[in-house]
Amino acid sequence: MSQLELIPTAAPATDAVEQPRPGSRADRMRKPLAKDALKQLAEQHGVCVRPLALRRTDTATGVTEVVEVPCGATLAAKCKPCAERGRRLRIQQIREGWHLADEPTIRPDKPGEDALALVRVRAHLEFEREAVQYQPMTPDERVAHLAEIDAAIAELDEALGETSLRGHLTPKDRDERPRRKRSTRRRQDSPDLPRLPVDPRTVGRAYSGKTGKTHRPSMLVTLTLGSHGAVHSHLRRGPYIAPCACGQRHGPNDDVLGTPVDPQAYDYRRAALDAIHFARVLDRWWQNVRRAAGWNVQYAGAVELQRRLAPHAHFAIRGTLPRRLLKQIAAATYHQVWWPSFSEPVYSVDKPPVWDVDRQEYVDPKTREPLPTWGEALDALEEPDSRPAYVARLGRIDARGIEQGTKDAERSIRYVTKYVTKDLTDQARPRSDAQKAHFDRLHAELAVLPCSPTCANWLLYRVQPDGVKPGLTPGRCTGKVHQRSTLGFTGRRVLVSRQWSGKTLADHRADNRAWVRAIVAGGMADTEEHDQAAADEADGPNRYRFELARPEDPDVPPLEHRLLRAISARIRWRADLETARQRTAGAVSATDRPAALAA
Ligand SMILES: [Zn+2]
Ligand SMILES: [Zn+2]
Ligand SMILES: [Zn+2]
Repeated sequence: MSQLELIPTAAPATDAVEQPRPGSRADRMRKPLAKDALKQLAEQHGVCVRPLALRRTDTATGVTEVVEVPCGATLAAKCKPCAERGRRLRIQQIREGWHLADEPTIRPDKPGEDALALVRVRAHLEFEREAVQYQPMTPDERVAHLAEIDAAIAELDEALGETSLRGHLTPKDRDERPRRKRSTRRRQDSPDLPRLPVDPRTVGRAYSGKTGKTHRPSMLVTLTLGSHGAVHSHLRRGPYIAPCACGQRHGPNDDVLGTPVDPQAYDYRRAALDAIHFARVLDRWWQNVRRAAGWNVQYAGAVELQRRLAPHAHFAIRGTLPRRLLKQIAAATYHQVWWPSFSEPVYSVDKPPVWDVDRQEYVDPKTREPLPTWGEALDALEEPDSRPAYVARLGRIDARGIEQGTKDAERSIRYVTKYVTKDLTDQARPRSDAQKAHFDRLHAELAVLPCSPTCANWLLYRVQPDGVKPGLTPGRCTGKVHQRSTLGFTGRRVLVSRQWSGKTLADHRADNRAWVRAIVAGGMADTEEHDQAAADEADGPNRYRFELARPEDPDVPPLEHRLLRAISARIRWRADLETARQRTAGAVSATDRPAALAA
């Protein structure tokens, strides 16, 4: 206990009205928990609070030891230090890519002869696998033969994984079902967009100013869904507050903000469907932007929830586009959902279709008539006059020009990454009764809409879901779309286009390590992890073999001991780094310091 008392905690209110009797239960309960103190200290020093233990075997010496790696969580609710480190890397990534002057494209090397030889064998195996289907043999023989070929393929794929080839040669799963042709006809009511061939250029234009300085303007855009009904809003007009649609003027913290002016008229169904399909709408938007702009526009941004609980997105764009063109593209951007129609529920959650054991399908609870299968429902969509079940559209776009290296650019980057360590709904947590009612109503709508072809909710719309099986309960689908933590949006939170900085987060992390080593080389010795990282790279990637160690394994110390050690190591390392930096000041300029390390 005495050690814990050394750790400063929130100052107790000494002038409190009544102090509990020392030694009483109330007095004991007031004392801070030891495990909270440990967690707080770990967070304070940027030490991962849920480290993974890896068992590392040195293949040269045979020595085995347990090493720790940070959990790498992106949500602060899971691990604050890791989430914060991730956010800083994002900031660094956005900053480096935003105003790039040179193309970041890296030309891949030609595949080596070893890789090509393996691919050749893989091709023969694929041919043989297909041929087995047509050769005369008994079904049992066929199964055995296929299993043999598949085992050979698996082995070969593993060997391919060890060559220098990137990515996978074939899709992960072998889908035996025939592919369905889906119509992608353009809807007639969409305005036409210019369609230019896309030039591979990814950097924006540079302009020379009067003083001879080169300007590289870029943009910050916000993409918002259309209205689902008027909501109470705080409307600033310069120094004044303008009246909301309800006639009142709301302050920035008003309890009704974000809730519908007329809840009866608010379109919760569209609000829910737009949230479910927003990620696809964003995809379409970037496709349209590239086609209409005629060059390979790059972006980095994040999706957030508005106060009205609709997802919207902020993006940094490299280079500039005419505002009028952006507005035109936004108006023309839509995503068609080619699912069976689900406009009106046929059954209720209380009286859903029932599973017929003999038929192995769902039937009407009264007539016992089977429901159309997923395949039948999709076939009906091939009729020439069929329409998509839903069309999700983009609403508004706001665009702002941003100049490289300005305070505005830095502020925008912080703005884009502000909430990426939080769950989507954390930022829009309802506070008042009105806001809670709005949240619950939207969530109720999401509970009965189909989230995917396999969703149990299809039963409500008289369709058997894809891959039908017994035990499906409409309204109880466990898909992420239906959860309170997503409110329908299950796409990626952070979206960075492939040629943004030409680097992945892992590359940025490696940059930071290199920077630390440059400083340390100036005179800091024997500090575990960082020297170790250097040694690992010198020995090549194959020196160590790693396996995950379980917390209950005898060679893994308790988490608390590991955390205490990590905190101590971090404190000493920081101090050593500071000393080394002062000694080598000048050798490595402080301005080159990667942002992810600033703390
Ligand atoms: Zn962590
Ligand atoms: Zn209002
Ligand atoms: Zn579902």
